Amino acid sequence: MGKLLKGQVALVTGASSGIGSAAAIFLAKEGAMVGVNYHSDREGAASVVAEIKRSGGKAISIQADVGDEKSVETMFAAVFEEFGNLDILVSNAGIQQDAAFHKMTLAQWNKVINTNLTGAFLCARAAVKYFLKRGVVEGISRSAGKIIFMSSVHQEIPWAGHVNYAASKGGLTELMRSLAQETADDMIRVNSIAPGAIKTNINKEVWSDEARLKELLKLIPYNRIGVPEDVAEGIVWLASDKSEYVNGTTLFIDGGMTLYPGFVGNG
Ligand code: NAD
Repeated sequence: MGKLLKGQVALVTGASSGIGSAAAIFLAKEGAMVGVNYHSDREGAASVVAEIKRSGGKAISIQADVGDEKSVETMFAAVFEEFGNLDILVSNAGIQQDAAFHKMTLAQWNKVINTNLTGAFLCARAAVKYFLKRGVVEGISRSAGKIIFMSSVHQEIPWAGHVNYAASKGGLTELMRSLAQETADDMIRVNSIAPGAIKTNINKEVWSDEARLKELLKLIPYNRIGVPEDVAEGIVWLASDKSEYVNGTTLFIDGGMTLYPGFVGNG
């Protein structure tokens, strides 16, 4: 087991699948004790916890809806009760509810904003309250706390047919930057990761269809779809003191998707 995050406690939301589950496992490999949040997939979370424990780590699964204030409070209370503190929040839970703009219902709009943006606000607020009270713990980390938001290349690339999702990630960017500015003096670091196309449940209908995958690859200069582990590596780095001077930034992990792939071959 590595030592980068020895003695630290992490909470990962939406950790029963995809990027969140890889993040929980990678953080634990580096010595962090992990709260594995899930919404409805209790078995998925249980298998992540079991995998961490098999490797000698510590983890618990915690049910919560990140878009619900009471539920978020209960989730943080469960982390404090089990591990006594918190050092790292990975605010990862997110959903898509796609529709042409003129057909998008208010329910579809609200659901995505509530999970992807309000959920990030509620979780980050709970973490910041604790980090401010607790401060830096010598010998654990040089920061009082680290927050990593899971954004998307669509914080930057407009996405027709997914206006609610793109708006949620664009909003998340300024939430991240403003919060980083507000809490830097308190030694709290706040950053985002913006993944490109990563092979998870959220986009299964694309990568499981050969023709659609071929079209998708045209958007990725590196010419392969990403895997959750590609993103988890970045999460570990942003959570550790290796990135101590990194604050208020977005790390794109996208195989070059944001490099205007239409210009490959001289445009
Ligand atoms: P995923 O569907 O496997 O993971 C999303 C997780 O969020 C699931 O475990 C789900 O149960 C959880 N979740 C949904 N609503 C919740 C709620 N209200 N409360 C708590 N948990 C909730 O897909 P993923 O790709 O691993 O997505 C993780 C994050 O990465 C999301 O924020 C997504 O927007 C972002 N992302 C993914 C990609 C990609 O290509 N896969 C690209 C860019 C950004």
